[in-house]
Amino acid sequence: MTTPTLSDADERAILDSIDKWIVQKVAPVAMELEHGDIWPADLVDDMAELGLFGAIIDPEYGGLGLSATTYSRIVMRIAEEWMSLTGIFNSHLMMATVVQKFGTPKQKDYWLPRFVTGEMRGGLGLTEPDAGTDLQAIRTVARRDGSHYVVTGTKTWISNAIMGHCCALLVKTDPDASPRYKGMSMLITSKIDPETKAPLPGISNGKKLEKLGYKGIDSGEFIFDGYRCDADLCLIGGEEGQGFYMATGGLEIGRVNIAARSVGIAKRALKESVIYAQTRKTMGKPIAEHQAIQLKLGDMAARTRAAELLVEDAARAFDAGGRIDMEAGMAKYFASETAVEVATEAMRIFGGYGYSKEYVIERLYRDAPLMCIGEGTNEMQRIIIAKQLVARNRI
Ligand SMILES: Cc1cc2nc3c(=O)[nH]c(=O)nc-3n(C[C@H](O)[C@H](O)[C@H](O)COP(=O)(O)OP(=O)(O)OC[C@H]3O[C@@H](n4cnc5c(N)ncnc54)[C@H](O)[C@@H]3O)c2cc1C
Repeated sequence: MTTPTLSDADERAILDSIDKWIVQKVAPVAMELEHGDIWPADLVDDMAELGLFGAIIDPEYGGLGLSATTYSRIVMRIAEEWMSLTGIFNSHLMMATVVQKFGTPKQKDYWLPRFVTGEMRGGLGLTEPDAGTDLQAIRTVARRDGSHYVVTGTKTWISNAIMGHCCALLVKTDPDASPRYKGMSMLITSKIDPETKAPLPGISNGKKLEKLGYKGIDSGEFIFDGYRCDADLCLIGGEEGQGFYMATGGLEIGRVNIAARSVGIAKRALKESVIYAQTRKTMGKPIAEHQAIQLKLGDMAARTRAAELLVEDAARAFDAGGRIDMEAGMAKYFASETAVEVATEAMRIFGGYGYSKEYVIERLYRDAPLMCIGEGTNEMQRIIIAKQLVARNRI
């Protein structure tokens, strides 16, 4: 992550162009793409043009070099309209961040300019059928063969697996290592040759996964069966045994992002509820004048604002440098639980209409729970927060 260099006016200009895009391009099509579970090809082209695939990548490689603070504000705004879109560039940026933070100079020169334009898009490949929270239990193996690695194994639930091209893949380079994390490495793997764009053998997608929400963006499997990649280009950092550290490092910005997405969901649910409560009448008056609804709105507003402030706090800490497990964990945990609570309350305020596909509330209600699971479940976030609390306050 670069030191923030934007002036307030520059940040406003970027946020204004995002707002304009949301109103003109995203809002008119979000409902149709969501309910059809259609990958948003035109919007992905727009996102590339807006520079979102390089939003937090150094200008040296063609990126916008935005701070996490500005980036999280962008994410909140887009998630307010359609959360799925944020997954398309954020999962990609988690992959890019790992290369930017830990890659060799040669790897940065090779991959980052291609990531920034969106010419090569991807995500983070950690989860396997039998290993999610317990990342050290993964079974995908990369075996060194001369100047190459040969990869075998299966990843699942990978965002952008099908419509993207590549992923930062967590593997075991020493399956017998003890402790287990010492045998883990990260590789950049790709379905196509980055130069010729020809398909590569030994890597395929398996099935597209059907989901409750998070429609439009693809979640899929990666199946590696003797896939070969050039060690110089694919072993991130050029040294085996660093993968677990890189994966958890990459997840920090991911957690700030998930927290920002959660705030976007909560803000939209609150905004819609405040409007609806003034227009829907029962017993001769708007429901906003019934105390039962006022209590809900009061709760929703206070929680949403608190979540937004936690996101800003975590983003600022990220921009200041160093590990931010506790700040990112608090923001992710609180904001995602808030998104679930606020979306649920919005559904109650909307009554039967909240359950209708004609209103956005049912989508927010389906999207919110994913925020509690992705980038480390909320059970794990509380454990991380507690461990950090003790570590930072040793007696
Ligand atoms: C839509 C979607 C998109 C995703 N995108 C990606 C992606 O792009 N890349 C990727 O790698 N993964 C992705 N994932 C996977 C996601 O990160 C995992 O689902 C998540 O980490 C949880 O892992 P799991 O599902 O295996 O649950 P498990 O690890 O099996 O956990 C099950 C339950 O046990 C709890 N638990 C587990 N261990 C402990 C413990 N030690 N202490 C307390 N509680 C514990 C968990 O909190 C959870 O409640 C995605 C998932 C979804 C649904």
